[in-house]
Amino acid sequence: MPPVPPGKSLRRRTALAAVAAVGAQMATSKSRASAATGANAEDERFMTQAIEEARKADFPFGCVITANGAVIARGGNIGRQHHDPTAHGEMTAIRNCVSADKTSELKGATLYTTGEPCPMCMGAIVWSGISRVVYAVSIDELATHMNQIMVSSEQIARASFHPVEIVGGVGLQEARPLFARFKKQTAPG
Ligand SMILES: [Zn+2]
Repeated sequence: MPPVPPGKSLRRRTALAAVAAVGAQMATSKSRASAATGANAEDERFMTQAIEEARKADFPFGCVITANGAVIARGGNIGRQHHDPTAHGEMTAIRNCVSADKTSELKGATLYTTGEPCPMCMGAIVWSGISRVVYAVSIDELATHMNQIMVSSEQIARASFHPVEIVGGVGLQEARPLFARFKKQTAPG
């Protein structure tokens, strides 16, 4: 094969990089689609309870944590009333669980939340030993309504030491209207 002029070689590398990027994008959508099929019969029922928590919250992020088929903790975003930007629904539910002396039950628990956990909450989920996360609205969709840190819960889980099964899109039709009144603005997740 004759030597390829540098310009050509560069173009070829660029083309290959573009193909790789499309492939990676396809792999991401595929993994998200298959994640949605991981829902079980209880998921819709518990998500309805998370949505009830969201209706009472400062921002429409509600959460329930379950273990052995029962709710062990609840929480909603209380960031505004407590002047606490870290008081996201998931953080509040985890703190409620810990303060109820149910810390050990977090290991292997399932967390239901109306919005995909942000990197802060997903970090707390990993550190808590929670095994499964079920969310309704994705970070990508939340970002059309309010500020978000654009790192997915799957990315955090993949980079961590603790395996977390993530199922998205459960209760989406019921949860989506909660966010409809938000225009793009500063709001915690
Ligand atoms: Zn969060």
